[in-house]
Amino acid sequence: MNFASDNAGPMHPSVLDAITKANTGYEMPYGNDTIMPRVRDLVRKTFEAPEAAVYLVATGTAANALALATYTNSWDTMFAHRVSHVEEDECGAPDFYANGARITLVDGAGAKMDPDSLRHAITHTGDKGVHGVQRGPVTITQATEVGTLYSLEEIAQITAIAREYGLKTHLDGARFANACAALGCTAAEMTWNAGIDMVSFGGTKNGCAGVEAVIFFDPEKAWEFELRRKRGAHLFSKHRYLSAQMEAYLQGDLWLELGAKANANCARLVKGLETVEGADIPDRPEANMVFAHLPRAAHRRAMEAGALYYLFPFDASLEGPDDELIRCRMVCDWNKSHAEIDALIALLRG
Ligand SMILES: *Cc1c(COP(=O)(O)O)cnc(C)c1O
Repeated sequence: MNFASDNAGPMHPSVLDAITKANTGYEMPYGNDTIMPRVRDLVRKTFEAPEAAVYLVATGTAANALALATYTNSWDTMFAHRVSHVEEDECGAPDFYANGARITLVDGAGAKMDPDSLRHAITHTGDKGVHGVQRGPVTITQATEVGTLYSLEEIAQITAIAREYGLKTHLDGARFANACAALGCTAAEMTWNAGIDMVSFGGTKNGCAGVEAVIFFDPEKAWEFELRRKRGAHLFSKHRYLSAQMEAYLQGDLWLELGAKANANCARLVKGLETVEGADIPDRPEANMVFAHLPRAAHRRAMEAGALYYLFPFDASLEGPDDELIRCRMVCDWNKSHAEIDALIALLRG
């Protein structure tokens, strides 16, 4: 019973099969394999973006940091939400890859940028001439770090503000599939149609072993990105194994199917959590992640039986009053069985 995160799960069998299939004979290295042109076509078709530049890397941190760095001068600052992966979970990689550029934090409920807060942050940047850092790209996360979603209108609102100031926009889509499935929209609608310039399209958390696509809708900086990826030590030599994963992930819209499954699993989990006595779930989960406040005794039963998920604070003690509520995070991937979800609920209910 592991509900810690969606990267705790296995690869989808189709992805593993694709890796096995790619594991015969010889293929040119460094992205010159025979699979990559098909991946490029699939991404372009999926995003309805025939001109897009498409690259693969093995981690989401590399995707975000390299994509952002491509549009960030070292004297710029990137605009990101206070609760975002680039700010909180990448050990400063975006700043590092952008040669010391900074991140300016933007506020907003539910880990979503508030348009006024973004505008305020932008207008107060670069207003001191040579003395201050200059305005760099705006990056948003979809689905967010807390499992909420920007509506298409909300994305368009953010990108419109960025565009007013001539700034590029990036979408961290580690959970792109979950968001797209939940909104019932197309990949194009959630990105370039809504004004997004570049995307980190996640595979790892949704059935791949380790692959993310970096997509630039305008290929003007494609060559620069290639140089940055190589210099940043993220150009895979045996690239065919990245290509194979991404091809399987895109074929027949597997990515979307798995995203929808993960969301449905989370919905089942939430339905069960609501039946735990004393449970409080303040925010309706919108994708595949739920934050719930549950009585300590429920956590104790589940965790003593081996269930894994995060408590907040991380070091919250299982010793103490039984009915005191402790906040937790549970994440479902596509692979969760109903039996596993129901077993966790049974333990929590006692
Ligand atoms: C997991 C995640 C990433 C990528 O993380 P890696 O561990 O570097 O693969 C990026 N953004 C968000 C929002 C994530 O949840």
